Amino acid sequence: MDSFLLQGAKRNMIETLRNKGITDENVLSAMEKVDRHLFVESYLWSRAYNDTPLPIHCGQTISQPSTVAFQTQLLSVGKNDKILEIGTGSGYQAAVLGAMGAKVFSVERHVDLFVKTKEIISKIDPKIILRCGDGFAGLLAFAPFNRIIVTCGAPNVPPALLSQLAPDGIMVIPVGQGKQVMKRIIKDSNGEVTEESYGDFVFVPMLEHKSKRN
Ligand code: SAH
Repeated sequence: MDSFLLQGAKRNMIETLRNKGITDENVLSAMEKVDRHLFVESYLWSRAYNDTPLPIHCGQTISQPSTVAFQTQLLSVGKNDKILEIGTGSGYQAAVLGAMGAKVFSVERHVDLFVKTKEIISKIDPKIILRCGDGFAGLLAFAPFNRIIVTCGAPNVPPALLSQLAPDGIMVIPVGQGKQVMKRIIKDSNGEVTEESYGDFVFVPMLEHKSKRN
């Protein structure tokens, strides 16, 4: 597909995001910078900028653009934030956070997906640090994080993630089995935690990874 058409489709996607209530200009401009089609197989390029999830390797999905935008907006990302993502998948969400100037760490449990995505990310944004392992354990070696984003449906808020969230930190995590409620968890400067709910979503499940430790 020609790049002129793809760039036009991307501009339409940004309009759709505005119409769906995304107002954070930093989120919109990051999503305008990152080429979503590069994160899916070429047979899907004609749909890469539709507001729909798409299949990626290992039976997983790249989240739909409005969900990526919504979670990123809730995360309230600032330049130089240190962010942990659980559920690298295609790498698209990580690349959007990287385009916002954040220092990004992302964990994926599927080895095959991890290997494929590492190759793509090394070309697009080599500063992003990817690890294969169990997201329930977080990424202790690099903790704490000011921001944590989970992009798979979690059965609960994993205690390790909560303890790796820095004071004044924010975690955005879809919680529930089958369908999820989007939660924003805010830790204040004293370590007190409050929780807000932001509607129903459907994500692929967060599953334990038994063979590897991070
Ligand atoms: N953020 C991704 C969305 C991928 S879908 C993107 O932009 O494409 C969610 C991903 O979470 C899947 O790749 C799935 O394999 C991964 N996942 C599920 N359980 C996990 C766990 N316990 N630890 C790490 N990743 C996990």
